[in-house]
Amino acid sequence: MEQVTPHVFAETKLRGSNPGFVVTSDGVVVVDTPQLPSKAVAMRAEAERHGPIRYVINTEHHVDHIFGNYYFKGAGTVVHHQGVYDNFMTVYPELDPFEYAREALPDDPDGAALFPDREEYYQDPNKGQIVFTGDVTLRVGDHTFHLLHTPGHTPGQIAVHVPEERVVFTGDTIFSECQTWLMTSDVDEWIASLDRIRALDVDHVIPGHGPVTDLSYVHTQRSILLEWKSAVAQAIAKGWSRDETVARVNFAERYPVDIGQGYMMEYIQTLNAGSLYDKFTAVSVG
Ligand SMILES: [Zn+2]
Repeated sequence: MEQVTPHVFAETKLRGSNPGFVVTSDGVVVVDTPQLPSKAVAMRAEAERHGPIRYVINTEHHVDHIFGNYYFKGAGTVVHHQGVYDNFMTVYPELDPFEYAREALPDDPDGAALFPDREEYYQDPNKGQIVFTGDVTLRVGDHTFHLLHTPGHTPGQIAVHVPEERVVFTGDTIFSECQTWLMTSDVDEWIASLDRIRALDVDHVIPGHGPVTDLSYVHTQRSILLEWKSAVAQAIAKGWSRDETVARVNFAERYPVDIGQGYMMEYIQTLNAGSLYDKFTAVSVG
């Protein structure tokens, strides 16, 4: 894992999100869990070498941030926003998160033996024991964890700000140098949340995906969101149909997809454009 500060570790080179942990004087706080089973087991062991795990915090409900919770049972208290709890591994028509976790197994040969049956998994996927709305502050040893509600990418999105380390874990409010997934998002809320993150006094930004960065990347992320919005708005203004918009509005050249998911590029482009088209053309009833 990458040591970001004396007490903060992050893993940015695995398929899945960027999980990490903070070592305090009273145990370890984990932020997101590795999606790949053998990596989740390994990260738990690595964290526990620094002390008992006190909390496992999830920044959002997408599978790449929560599936690994299964392998952290009995390791601290799981904490997340109500929006994560309500959508935890929920099957949607466009994506079955359990199957998506299974799809990643070729990237984790040792993980197949650790992968649970669907029924066994859903009996106890290790959802939140502390579930909150708004913001929450945890104090663990000498460290403070400000869990800031930063909706946009998902409704229950949070950032974890650790002022003593001058670090913020932004989750997928920042996709650093890789494709942005916005099909389940409220882009306007997301932009407001970026402003909230920009106001923090930190040196290191640990994004949900891609390399560790700093606050300057907030401007890049905002610009990516605005470009998507504006490109789809212009398509609609030109009278393009949904199919034409999806076919022509495409930012695939801009960045690669994060590790191991290159085959999802067209899926991302199609759903990003299509979801914005649907939102911009929706007629509210009543
Ligand atoms: Zn993610």
